[in-house]
Amino acid sequence: MKNITLNCLALFFPFQLLLIYVLKQNPAWVETYYSEGFFLVSSQLQHYLTSWIPFSLGDLFYSALVLIIVVWIFRLIKSRFRKLGTRFLEAMAFVSLIYFLFHLFWGFNYYRLPLHKSLGISTEYTKAELYEFTCDLIQKTNDLHAELAENDSVKVDYKFKQGQLQQWVFEAYTNSTNEDLKIPYRVENLKKSLFSLPLSYGGFSGYVNPFTNEGQYNYKIPKYKLPTTMAHEIGHQLGYSKENEANFIASVITMQDENRFLQYSGLTFALKYSLNDMYKKDPLLSEALIAELRPGVLKNYKEVQEFWQAYTGPVELVMETVYGNYLKVNNQPLGMKSYDYVVALLVNYYQ
Ligand SMILES: [Zn+2]
Repeated sequence: MKNITLNCLALFFPFQLLLIYVLKQNPAWVETYYSEGFFLVSSQLQHYLTSWIPFSLGDLFYSALVLIIVVWIFRLIKSRFRKLGTRFLEAMAFVSLIYFLFHLFWGFNYYRLPLHKSLGISTEYTKAELYEFTCDLIQKTNDLHAELAENDSVKVDYKFKQGQLQQWVFEAYTNSTNEDLKIPYRVENLKKSLFSLPLSYGGFSGYVNPFTNEGQYNYKIPKYKLPTTMAHEIGHQLGYSKENEANFIASVITMQDENRFLQYSGLTFALKYSLNDMYKKDPLLSEALIAELRPGVLKNYKEVQEFWQAYTGPVELVMETVYGNYLKVNNQPLGMKSYDYVVALLVNYYQ
């Protein structure tokens, strides 16, 4: 009986690959039947099951997966690599099952319609349009900095508890009157990651667990970065799996909210992408634009930069490679570079 189950699971794997191939060609199906259909129900159910648990159940699940793999390798060595056929079958069945659950509960969202198509906007923009958009962000950022910081050369201080920031982000989603973005449900399901230290070394601010739909954030990052990080993870929870789309949603939700601190987080977040993009197109112009910023704004950026610098090392390089490849496998062919698409969305959306 056990062998039949293992065989079925293993044989199921190539069928899943075929299904992914078909879905990749038909994003409209995925949008209608999965992202705006099945996923809405399944994710809601996952939230009811996990949101009341004070710690991340998904993190325990990940730990269990690692334990299963370690035990499997141990048994393989202990049996002196006998019964290799059975061990291989076990591995295939395991991979197939995890792959299936990953896609069923979240991963198919990678194949939904690209956000610019759902929003009916273009992805093209000229340097002049980027310049105008960036200038507007700089103006707003400077004005807000003048309001929130004690003087022009100090950073905006986020002297709030993490729970308070989290509450504001939930409220930003709940109160959002944005009708362009599909914000289908609002369940508070964000948790501190149990792996925040390794995440810091890996260069990660947060993640959504696709198996439980809990959002985890790295509680060690500077508080000023928490609102956009939390908003980004909620974007993932809403079914926007792709990094650039979650970044766009995080920017829009925080920038459009009434809370000044959320706005500041959102504006500087969007501005960083715009300035990076401008730097690629015209380094001198981008430097001239940066010089327009109040020095205190740069101190907020610097604080974040220094945080990550304190955790740099070989782990980060390994994680970047692993995650870059993960993105490529999951319909983001440019890997980590696909983050640039967020500028295309922002510039065109705000036109
Ligand atoms: Zn993300």
